[in-house]
Amino acid sequence: MSVAATDSPERSGAHPRSESSAPSASSAVYDVCIVGSGAGGGMAAYTLTKGGARVVLLEAGPPWYATKDSKMLFPEYASPRRGKGSKYKPFGEFDGCIGGWDIEGEPYTRAPGTTFDWWRARMLGGRTNHWGRISLRFGPDDFRGKSRDGLGDDWPIGYSDLAPYYDQVDELIGIFGSAEGLPNHPDGKFQPPPKPRCYELMIKQACDNLGVTCIPSRLSILTKPIHGRMACHYCGQCGRGCGVAANFSSPDVLIAPALKTGRLTLITNAMAREVIVGKDGLAEGVSYVDKTTGQERTVRAKVIVLAASACESARILLNSKSAQFPNGLANSSGVVGKYLTDTTGAGVGGFIPKMMDHVDHNEDGAGGAHIYSPWWIDNKKLDFPRGYHIEMGGGLGAPGYGFMGGIQEYPSGGGYGKQLKADYRKYYGASVYFSGRGEMIPNADSYCEIDEKVVDKYGIPVLRFHWKWSDHEYLQVKHMQETFRALIADMGGQVFDPMPSKEDGYGIAAGGRIIHELGCVRMGADPNTSVLNANCQAHDCKNLFVADGGPFVSQADKNPTWTILALSMRTSEYILAQRAGGAI
Ligand SMILES: Cc1cc2nc3c(=O)[nH]c(=O)nc-3n(C[C@H](O)[C@H](O)[C@H](O)COP(=O)(O)OP(=O)(O)OC[C@H]3O[C@@H](n4cnc5c(N)ncnc54)[C@H](O)[C@@H]3O)c2cc1C
Ligand code: SF4
Repeated sequence: MSVAATDSPERSGAHPRSESSAPSASSAVYDVCIVGSGAGGGMAAYTLTKGGARVVLLEAGPPWYATKDSKMLFPEYASPRRGKGSKYKPFGEFDGCIGGWDIEGEPYTRAPGTTFDWWRARMLGGRTNHWGRISLRFGPDDFRGKSRDGLGDDWPIGYSDLAPYYDQVDELIGIFGSAEGLPNHPDGKFQPPPKPRCYELMIKQACDNLGVTCIPSRLSILTKPIHGRMACHYCGQCGRGCGVAANFSSPDVLIAPALKTGRLTLITNAMAREVIVGKDGLAEGVSYVDKTTGQERTVRAKVIVLAASACESARILLNSKSAQFPNGLANSSGVVGKYLTDTTGAGVGGFIPKMMDHVDHNEDGAGGAHIYSPWWIDNKKLDFPRGYHIEMGGGLGAPGYGFMGGIQEYPSGGGYGKQLKADYRKYYGASVYFSGRGEMIPNADSYCEIDEKVVDKYGIPVLRFHWKWSDHEYLQVKHMQETFRALIADMGGQVFDPMPSKEDGYGIAAGGRIIHELGCVRMGADPNTSVLNANCQAHDCKNLFVADGGPFVSQADKNPTWTILALSMRTSEYILAQRAGGAI
């Protein structure tokens, strides 16, 4: 059994408890068992242990701390594959993630006609080790979509319920940005943002010309030291994990301080199978497979918090069948697995001739763009509901494998020898890239369920996905394509790829590809149409909670993780209050 608590005793500085030194599964009853240690699970572990609860955390992957394990500052040429990605490292050899679209021995299936790809991390901290750190609050409108345009459903909570938690997350984790006072893009407790790079200033100029709002990015990267963590030194390699913890990852920022309390027992390489329910219908514990020995084990707790990621938490619930809950735990509504959404996505790149042969200049900075465009148009003027934001790319990043792929498309580009090298120098830094990230409306055709015929290598039944975009999403992505092409044209640039046709879905990324899957365990006021109440507590089982992207009622034109963190903190404080009052 691998136990992260003993893995980093110098970091914990306390007396971390390993599973083997803890009371045996039959005698130890923890206050709370959390499944998953990513954004949601990490925040739950932090808040609950700080609040005095004795917590056991089951994590399917091995221990991993960026401050110890990151490949920050390794040159690409130090790798035999020059940093090239592979099946199990799709974003490059030095990327901070263990996981990917395919995991050996852990399949998932798709219904006929479905295109959906499911990204999974398998490591302490989950996807927070290599995420983009774009940290956006949902705005007031994002919680009441149905009231605005009749589509989807409203959340049972509003922005004002979450605002105090967003504030606390900002101050605990750290985020840079600028106060803008925009109506549906609430400002936070920001550290100063870094200045825009040269190409970003040019993009900003084009945005200004076309009336597209363009403001400093909001990233969970420190520009000032806090809580013993250093400020960013602008190496631009956040995706590898930050060796000095200047950006947010769950293990270094949440799990390590939780371990320090001495109240967290961390069990890594523990693949949760199901939630065990007692005769009284309450959750009693979680059964899991010890991946290092293959043994079946159980932990017992008074409260269970699932935070294994939206679809995986749904999978655990659907696999938790018992006499009281024959359709899976907390599923009397039949809604577990339903209303699965992902962010819409499309991208366009362009060559900007006036940026070639540039004078040498410094474009170091934080990992990710220093500017972005929040949604800026009133949908009443458009033929689709809900918006998107724009993420920008370009500049002089350190060259690696696949650097400037497609050079033959540039004027006089390609060929061999001296001319090719000269072209690389000429065109290096002379292109920009725009990615749209937009809101999908939940629909009845996009969901996951248990595939009764397939199990993973642990014998756990797997998920089967169903997926369909609607015209709302296709038309939104068409608008992205047109906007990005207009921005590049305004910069005097050239787009090499033709505008994708309607038949090609206007270039929309496949479901799951933007890796923002949400829903499947949604919250709501009505137990007939939702799984959880407004506190992310199961309607059917009062000591069961979900603290990842599962409770989301809808997407927004924002990335979800800041909201997962704020919701998880709110849920955890509710659990502490309920425990203090003896209700659970
Ligand atoms: C490349 C990339 C870039 C991204 N960029 C952004 C961004 O800029 N902004 C943003 O807001 N979001 C971004 N995201 C999405 C973001 O990473 C997720 O929203 C967030 O991490 C979700 O948190 P989570 O706790 O739900 O799940 P995760 O972070 O995925 O954590 C789930 C954890 O549960 C564990 N687990 C799963 N199943 C089991 C099981 N059966 N038993 C035990 N443990 C289990 C996993 O190993 C994992 O550690 C990005 C994601 C990727 C991959
Ligand atoms: S850019 Fe900053 S936050 Fe990102 S890895 Fe480098 S030092 Fe860390």
